[in-house]
Amino acid sequence: MAVTSASPAVVLVVEDEPAIATAVANRLSAEGWTVEVAGDGHAGVAAASRLRPGLVVLDVMLPGIDGLEVCRRIQAERAVPVLMLTARDDETDMLIGLGVGADDYMTKPFSMRELVARCKALLRRNERALQAAQLAGTDRQEPPITIGDVVIDRAQRRVSRGAEQVHLTPTEFDLLVTLASSPRTVHTRERLLAEVWDWVDASGTRTVDSHVKALRRKLGPDLVRTVHGVGYAFDPPSGTATEAPAAPAPTPPERSAEG
Ligand code: CA
Repeated sequence: MAVTSASPAVVLVVEDEPAIATAVANRLSAEGWTVEVAGDGHAGVAAASRLRPGLVVLDVMLPGIDGLEVCRRIQAERAVPVLMLTARDDETDMLIGLGVGADDYMTKPFSMRELVARCKALLRRNERALQAAQLAGTDRQEPPITIGDVVIDRAQRRVSRGAEQVHLTPTEFDLLVTLASSPRTVHTRERLLAEVWDWVDASGTRTVDSHVKALRRKLGPDLVRTVHGVGYAFDPPSGTATEAPAAPAPTPPERSAEG
């Protein structure tokens, strides 16, 4: 089966500052993508539903509903890569803590060159996921990875732990598969960036850390081990396969967002 891109990707830019929206749209258009701009949160959600974009570039601070809620609503409808634009690094940390589910983050001001590189990486990865989905149901599909009570269904791109389905973003899923494909092996941040994000430079190792945080929050803190100064390793869960349901993970204290 020849897999070709049926049409150039549609990129949705949700950004309320006209100067930034225009600059981003012009730059992404120059890459050959079809770009649509939405100027507030509600318009962004509506446009995502209507356009079914291949990628969403999403500002956090928006009139109407903010980027967090826009991201949740878009992802609830359909899995699509989201690149979130934040004002500060600590805002990125806050968003990761809240489990917003974006695939990548860029702090303003950013270079257009880097924006394009990250958009390309996200689109490439999504293309690969689509190809894997097309193989599902054929004899070429990859078998699930089962490690203890963790089951990673690569064909359906679903993850469960015990009886619980775990909702991961596409990036979180790819990171988990990469780590779990070779348990107990240390993966450096740079290697993970190259394999999961398709990045060739190592400027984004913080992105790896943030996605590991998200995996721990969703799957439990015991699976992904930090190897200090080096990277991460996937450790099989201890005390596997019992009939009793797993005890619920302790709920972290509620964090209220400002405003
Ligand atoms: Ca804004």
